[in-house]
Amino acid sequence: MLDNNNGDMNSRKPLIYYVIIAVTILLLLNTFIFPLLLARQVQVVGYSDFLSMIDEGKVSEVSLTQQADQILFVAKNDQGQEELYKTAVFPDEGLITRLQNAGVRFSAEIPTQNNTLLSFVFSWILPILIFVGLGRLLSNQLEKRMGGGMNALSFGKADAKMIVADKETGVTFADVAGEEEAKDALKEIVDFLEHPDKYAGIGAKLPKGALLVGPPGTGKTLLAKAVAGEAKVPFFSISGSEFVEMFVGMGAAKVRDLFKQANEKAPCIVFIDEIDTIGKKRDGAGSIGGNDEREQTLNQLLTEMDGFDGKKGVVILAATNRPESLDPALLRPGRFDRRVPVELPDLQGREAILRVHAKDVKCEDGIDLKEIARATSGASGAELANIINEAALRAVRLGRQSVNQEDLMESVETVIAGYQRKNAVMSEQEKRIVSYHEIGHALVAAMQTHSAPVTKITIIPRTSGALGYTMQVDEGEHYLMSREELLNKIVTLTGGQAAEELIFHSITTGASNDIEKATRLARGMITRYGMGEFGMVALETVNNQYLGGDTSLSCSPAYSEKIDEQVVALVKQAREKADRILRENEAKLHELAAYLMKQETITGEEFMRILNAKPESEAAAEPAAEAEKEA
Ligand code: ADP
Ligand code: MG
Ligand code: ZN
Repeated sequence: MLDNNNGDMNSRKPLIYYVIIAVTILLLLNTFIFPLLLARQVQVVGYSDFLSMIDEGKVSEVSLTQQADQILFVAKNDQGQEELYKTAVFPDEGLITRLQNAGVRFSAEIPTQNNTLLSFVFSWILPILIFVGLGRLLSNQLEKRMGGGMNALSFGKADAKMIVADKETGVTFADVAGEEEAKDALKEIVDFLEHPDKYAGIGAKLPKGALLVGPPGTGKTLLAKAVAGEAKVPFFSISGSEFVEMFVGMGAAKVRDLFKQANEKAPCIVFIDEIDTIGKKRDGAGSIGGNDEREQTLNQLLTEMDGFDGKKGVVILAATNRPESLDPALLRPGRFDRRVPVELPDLQGREAILRVHAKDVKCEDGIDLKEIARATSGASGAELANIINEAALRAVRLGRQSVNQEDLMESVETVIAGYQRKNAVMSEQEKRIVSYHEIGHALVAAMQTHSAPVTKITIIPRTSGALGYTMQVDEGEHYLMSREELLNKIVTLTGGQAAEELIFHSITTGASNDIEKATRLARGMITRYGMGEFGMVALETVNNQYLGGDTSLSCSPAYSEKIDEQVVALVKQAREKADRILRENEAKLHELAAYLMKQETITGEEFMRILNAKPESEAAAEPAAEAEKEA
């Protein structure tokens, strides 16, 4: 989140700094300014004037001995106000009698300080005011530094971060690549914020709120900022979790304050990130231990959304990746009635996102971002941004000045499979097993017409725990998967273990990930895609379509048992097919595995070249015998 940086900078100065400044100011005031202000104005008059003033009865008080060379005296001026005068000492014997005759009080000393009220103000009230002001300043600073921690003491002030649009967000639609549909939907809001009268003229009401819905990292937050940046309006951003406060009622107070601020700054955008934290469906009446605080906050939000004037130009954007959990009251017309899907990018979108982020790093000429986009099917914008950054880091590590294609490809693998474990040493036997396992996958994939060709096979261990893997990249974008493709995929997944068993007559734990994936696919085919014996019946429902898509069973236990039986049968069938393919191509399996063991990483082209070459019976037979001996 971009927030107002200036404020932050100030709060980083040590508090002691302020104390020192204040004390210095006070000292200066005390020694120089106060005495000047407090001192009476002293007027100098001649001795003869002094005498005549005595005679006229204006003088009330005289100090004779305070200073050796001058006489201080108090006399009424022309307006009848008492003022302080001084005159030079004159050898005058008769002065005392003259003073006595005029009835003037004379003494050794008269006060040079002005009236007591003023001095009270300067010596007491002002310092107190200064200290109180200072205290408030300090506590404000403290609060800012402690962030949420001090909120309990600030009683419900929303600390939404306000960003002055054109300067600070600096994000525009150009920074959000792909997501054309989402941008189109939001352009209307931008237009509304720029020309509200155009809409008011025709009587059109724009949606008060729009809900950005999509998987994590697809650019929802980025889009909201871009709307503010495009419309050049203030952007209030608050995260749903920030509403949940220490004391009951604080969240609601925050909502109130947030909307008050927004109303003052209209037109503006209020962005509530992760709204699902407060917008969850409210519990039914009977439930015990419902979250009162959250419900109060939500109720306040609903009230505020109804309460403010839609024509004023406050647009509320919210983001969530769990739309199905939101309270229906939030989604009705007049609230978040507009839904803007922010989906995972497709091939073109991925290329565009890569291009946007590649602009920030120095790249060699002729890098092929399309290839990277093809290799990253299913990756989110955030992951793609990360891939570019990882590539740049790799380039630096290798002491290069710019990013090349190899950096990018390597970082794709880093993001997918983790870093290479350079110092992990596999025994020769393990290396052999992994080689056969991976070639098993690749060979089965290549032998089935519907499978995408392999692009890379490696047996370099990764930090994610993978000992090797086979990378498959689709040529184009896939939106639908046919039954055959799904089946082939399952067969390919079983190919690894099938190869292990065929060659070594024993299997390892290395296939656990394959097994998981194969099971999930098979299950989906039967319970969700209507490809099993039960036909078009939904036996499972998806809970969180944007968050991993975990499912829950929605059928009777009897059916559940049958589903399991069918899943087992399906995967078993697939495995038998993989076994058959590998048996038929055992020579190629040996040849390719031996090559992979030597090279550790081979490309799709190399793989296909060896696969399509005439079988070299000599070369192929040898490693086979060797492997079997050791197993
Ligand atoms: P979300 O809020 O959907 O979880 P974010 O908006 O926080 O995702 O995105 C995280 C980062 O990923 C962004 O700051 C940006 O660098 C990158 N990103 C995500 N989607 C895109 C996109 N469509 N175009 C460019 N960058 C993107
Ligand atoms: Mg976000
Ligand atoms: Zn495997």
